[in-house]
Formats: sequence, C-alpha cells, structure tokens
Amino acid sequence: MENDFADLTLFITGPTYVREEIKKAAMLPDFGHRDKEAKKRLEPAINNLKRIMGVEGDDNYKLFLIPGTGSSAMEASIKSLVSDDETVLCVSVGAFGKLYYKIASSNKNNVELLEFAPGQAIDHGVLREKLESLKPAVVTITHNETSTGVINDVAALGKLIREHNALPLVDGVSILGGAPSDIKEGNIAFYCGSTQKCLGLPAGFGIGVMSEDALEKAEKVGKRGYNTDLIAHVKKGEKFQTLTTTPTSLANQLYFQTNYIVEEEGIENRFKRHMEMKEIVHKFIEAELPGFQLLPEKENASPSLTCIKVPASFTIDMLKDVKEELRKDGYLMDPGYGKMNKALAEQGRPLTIRVAHMGDITPEMLNKYLTALKDALMKHIGVQE
Ligand SMILES: *Cc1c(COP(=O)(O)O)cnc(C)c1O
Repeated sequence: MENDFADLTLFITGPTYVREEIKKAAMLPDFGHRDKEAKKRLEPAINNLKRIMGVEGDDNYKLFLIPGTGSSAMEASIKSLVSDDETVLCVSVGAFGKLYYKIASSNKNNVELLEFAPGQAIDHGVLREKLESLKPAVVTITHNETSTGVINDVAALGKLIREHNALPLVDGVSILGGAPSDIKEGNIAFYCGSTQKCLGLPAGFGIGVMSEDALEKAEKVGKRGYNTDLIAHVKKGEKFQTLTTTPTSLANQLYFQTNYIVEEEGIENRFKRHMEMKEIVHKFIEAELPGFQLLPEKENASPSLTCIKVPASFTIDMLKDVKEELRKDGYLMDPGYGKMNKALAEQGRPLTIRVAHMGDITPEMLNKYLTALKDALMKHIGVQE
C-alpha cells in the first residue's frame, strides 16, 4: 500500500528502535490465544522474562503479561493492591513518578505525593521521615525516571519501605531489560514494565511481577475491576495465556526477542552494553559539547537514557529545529520532556534534551547518532530567533 511514512531510527525514550529480525518475527504464524499454540510462545517468553528480571526459580514471584502497556499494569497494581480506606504514598522524581500519582489518585481517595526536584534521585532520609509520619499502606516508586534520566536504588528503597510495613510498588517501565530489576533484593511486592523500551520491541504488553504476599493482599481488596484484576492476570499467566486476547504478532516477537536476550546476547552482556552506552554519552558531553551538562549527578544517571542540560541560549523552538535537522539524517531525536522544558523555560532556566540508549541500540549506532546530534546542535547554537 502506498504511504509517505518516514523510515526513521528512533532515538527517543520509547518506543525505541526495533531490529529487522524482530520485525520479521512478527510474521511468524498467528495463533489462537486459548489454543495450545499460545503456550509455545508464552511459556518460553515468561520463563525468559523471569530470568531477565531475576526471579526465575522463585515460587514467591509470579510473572504475567497484560495486553496494554506499562501503565495498564500500573493501574492494575493500584486497583488490586490498595483498599479504599488505605493511604498510598507516591514518590516522584519527575513526570513518571507523577504518572503513578495520577493513576493512584484517580482511583483512590487517600493518595499523597512526595516530590523531588528534576535531576534528583529519591532522598532516602526524606522518604524515611515521610513513611514515619504518614504510615502509608502502599508506596509507589519509579525505578528509572524517564523525564530526567535518573535511576533510583530499588534494592535499598524496597527494604526501607518494607521496614515501615508498607508494600513497595515499582514502575520499572524504562529500565526492564536494560539493568537488573532488584525485585528480590528490595523485597518488592509489584514490579512492572513494558515491551517498547529496553526490551527493544513494539508496544503492546504490560509486564508484571508480583509477590506471594501481594497476591494475598489482593484477595482482601474489594472491587479490583476486570482488566485491572491482578489475581485474574496471575491465573492466566500461570497457564501461559493472557486475560484478554493476546496481541499475537507481539507475542511472536516477545518469544523471539527474549530467547535472543537469554540465549544469544546474554542478560549480563545486555546490562553491560547499556552501562557502556551511558559512559559513551557522558564522555561525549564532556569532550564534544562544551556548555552542555548532565542533568543528574553521575551516580544517579540512568543506564537507559541520558538527560542533558543545554546552554541557556537554546529555546524550545530551537530544539524543535534541531529535531527537524536530525530527521533529515534519518533520526527521530528527543528534544526533552515537553512539560518539564516548558516549566524550565518559564523559570528562565536551561532546557534539556534526552538521548535514549535502550533496547537493541548498539554503541556503534549511538556514536554515529551523537556525531549527527552534535552537528545539528552546533548549527543552531548561534541562531537567535
Ligand atoms: C514510558 C513510561 C511509562 C508509560 O508506559 P506505557 O507503556 O506507555 O504505558 C511509565 N513509566 C515510565 C518510567 C516510562 O518510561
């Protein structure tokens, strides 16, 4: 069919670049989602995901797929794990921490937000004080904040939240498949992700992992909804099916890709590659982009995307021009998280851009992209509008 679709390499923070082999895997045979053929795809996919997320061989954890996306899983966690009279604390270091708050407060009555400034990670001391004063039953955190490129310490935060007798729920959407999930290390009750970020697939599944004690908690929560009932999702996951109709092309791709990650690339190598790409971008900023700065402190910087403060002379429109410049080179560039840049512009503070280095992007691809990005930025740096 004729179209005018541009064939761009996505360097945005999701959806991310999808390899040619993965595109072909979408053409593996279709199947019925209640037929025995479903299990041939989803049993290996679920087992591989358990290994990628570090919960293989542990009966305490169930893994399931929710047709939808990461936020479908986030919403299900609120509907299924919070009773109406309980208090939820949503800890936010950026736009996606606020998304969990939005989801929680649109479903439940007693929801509080604890916010940290853009570029900061969660301050454990401040959180401890909040846990002591508020005594929430459930706490949500973001593993990897996509708007600012900050990674939080899930292992330590999970333990801290458990010490205060609350259930830790983790949004790991932009890091699942790119770094360890630390689910067991943090005694996490619920952890979720999606397919279109560090797993290098198109969007279409929310991926959830849930602990035995969270499952017991869900039994006591009243109306959990239908699509948002984690018990129903867990039951289908145990049969290697999904609650609602499986997106079959994506299931074929998930089968193919998780097999590739576990058997060919190797999980550790994949995590290492993400760390290497982070270092490449950090070094590039220091060596090639004078006047540009990493937004977070180095020790809190994300392995899957880098958020960069641009010189004060850049306006939102100039960054849009940079994006269009890179489109000519075949790239889709990320000119920063929209709402955050708007707020920064209003405060007269320097804006940000983001470089995603997630999924199947290679160091070679990243180096080429950074060179093109530098050229486009330099072309516009002197331009006043
Ligand atoms: C992308 C993203 C989401 C939203 O995920 P969807 O799969 O689009 O629902 C949530 N949290 C984080 C941290 C993200 O990066």
